[in-house]
Amino acid sequence: MSWADAIDILVVDLDGVVWIGGKAIEANVRALRKLQEHVKIYYVTNNSTKSRPEYALKLRSLGLDAWESNVITSGRAATLWLKKFTKARNVYLIGEEGLIWELEVEGYNIVDRGSKAEAVVVGLDRKLTYQKLAEALEALLKGAYFIATNPDNILPEEGSPIPGAGAIIAALETASERKPDVIAGKPNPWIVTSTLGNIDYSRVAVVGDRVDTDVELALRIGAKPILTLTGVTRNLDEETLKRLREAKTVIVKDLEELLAR
Ligand SMILES: [Mg+2]
Repeated sequence: MSWADAIDILVVDLDGVVWIGGKAIEANVRALRKLQEHVKIYYVTNNSTKSRPEYALKLRSLGLDAWESNVITSGRAATLWLKKFTKARNVYLIGEEGLIWELEVEGYNIVDRGSKAEAVVVGLDRKLTYQKLAEALEALLKGAYFIATNPDNILPEEGSPIPGAGAIIAALETASERKPDVIAGKPNPWIVTSTLGNIDYSRVAVVGDRVDTDVELALRIGAKPILTLTGVTRNLDEETLKRLREAKTVIVKDLEELLAR
């Protein structure tokens, strides 16, 4: 594991790395239990459906050292953006419990009508309705901030993938003819820098299963990209492979293969 000497921090993705569709990816979990003895691990997910304490609890149940302080979600990053760059207090939300928790813990008021909102926050919502889209649109047309958690078009599941937050954001973009003011999650460096601050990112490695979010994030913050083929990315076409090699991406079948290097 000589590569680990050059690394202080591992930024590890959740969906497609630690678990898939809620089921642990055993080889990766075993590897992470060993890796946590050598490097500091931050678990960073674009999935906003759960809160940091919930993810931490789930990770600890797998024997992984995870607390609210070393778990980051796109919901947390979206909330920190709202806090830093706006004075909005009333938020219309498309999202699930985890996103509500992240906003409320920072004192935001979740409103039930778009007309009352100064900001619209959009994340994955598996109970999305046409009414919610209509309320969000009303707020957006009146000039509310348009804050999106993450661009993921799909989410890996054990069978077929399910539509991700990106698909919901696209619906609102089309209707409002606006682009989000921010997409807080990966590959936006903000998801990492808003919590880790100004550190030496050349001593950070980002582990993930997606090229367009995880590898891209690594490149944007100047960290080392590690791609594990346990999630969304299973096959790589020649062109992508060439691009990944140029970016010095470490590509592994799973994280146990990484341990062997
Ligand atoms: Mg993933």
